[in-house]
Amino acid sequence: MTKSELIERLADKEHAGWAHWMDYLFSKCLMNDRREVIIPLPLVERWRKQAEIPYTQLSEREKQSDRDEVAHILPIIDEYVRNETILAMLKELAQGEAVRYASEVDGDILYDCPFCSPGGQYEPNEGQHEPTCLVIRAQQFLKERS
Ligand SMILES: [Zn+2]
Repeated sequence: MTKSELIERLADKEHAGWAHWMDYLFSKCLMNDRREVIIPLPLVERWRKQAEIPYTQLSEREKQSDRDEVAHILPIIDEYVRNETILAMLKELAQGEAVRYASEVDGDILYDCPFCSPGGQYEPNEGQHEPTCLVIRAQQFLKERS
């Protein structure tokens, strides 16, 4: 999920919350003979007062109603953060040049990539990873994604 996809998904939930509120508001209103919608004064006073109260000073019941709204968007944010974390790890992995795994043994350079040769000693051609190496697969994934 890209950042603009995240914004679209959150905006979709935001719109749904607004639409739900408007439905509720209109259900509490009256219509006069000129087909004008009227919000009863006691509700106007109640909502005005509520709107002026900072979240921290709301009643537990009012706070819970706001938390229930957050519960609609939290899974989307969680998914985005998880994906970003995985992407950051893949980017780190993709930077694993074979030369980093090079060591000199008896005058020879040995390339011992833990992903090309887990537990063994693979000697990639002049520091190149095997095509199936995780480093190469991470690089390909990121290339295809960009
Ligand atoms: Zn490798």
